[in-house]
Amino acid sequence: MPIDPKLPYDDDNIFAKILRGELPCNKVYEDEHVLAFHDIRPQAPVHVLVIPKDRFVSWDDFTAKGSDAQIAGFMRGVGEVTRLLQLDTPGYRLMVNMGEHGHQEVPHLHVHIFGGRRFYQMISD
Ligand code: AMP
Repeated sequence: MPIDPKLPYDDDNIFAKILRGELPCNKVYEDEHVLAFHDIRPQAPVHVLVIPKDRFVSWDDFTAKGSDAQIAGFMRGVGEVTRLLQLDTPGYRLMVNMGEHGHQEVPHLHVHIFGGRRFYQMISD
């Protein structure tokens, strides 16, 4: 079910639990701003999620309320992960689902990194 992105941050969401170490993840990268881990239901040969360590519900929440340092740290973190995964030369696709129309399911901001193959269609449905 898509989330309501206007609800307050829910500390019991699954990514908050992963950040606190209460649930496991298949970690790819971590720094002071971000945690990156493999998606549990991969939709491409490489499917990694990058989340900020701060409490933001969505892209909308983050870009409205995040500080310049938080936003810069997150964007740099996403870039670091793509290079660590050696996706920078063949290329990759980034995706952020936001709210009901974006079909966002987890109410903690996350960027999807897709790679390992060529993508054609922009949107498949
Ligand atoms: P979204 O629809 O953008 O909110 O995507 C949420 C993503 O989180 C989906 O691709 C799920 O497969 C993924 N996901 C849900 N739970 C976990 C988990 N425990 N570990 C890793 N990925 C997860």
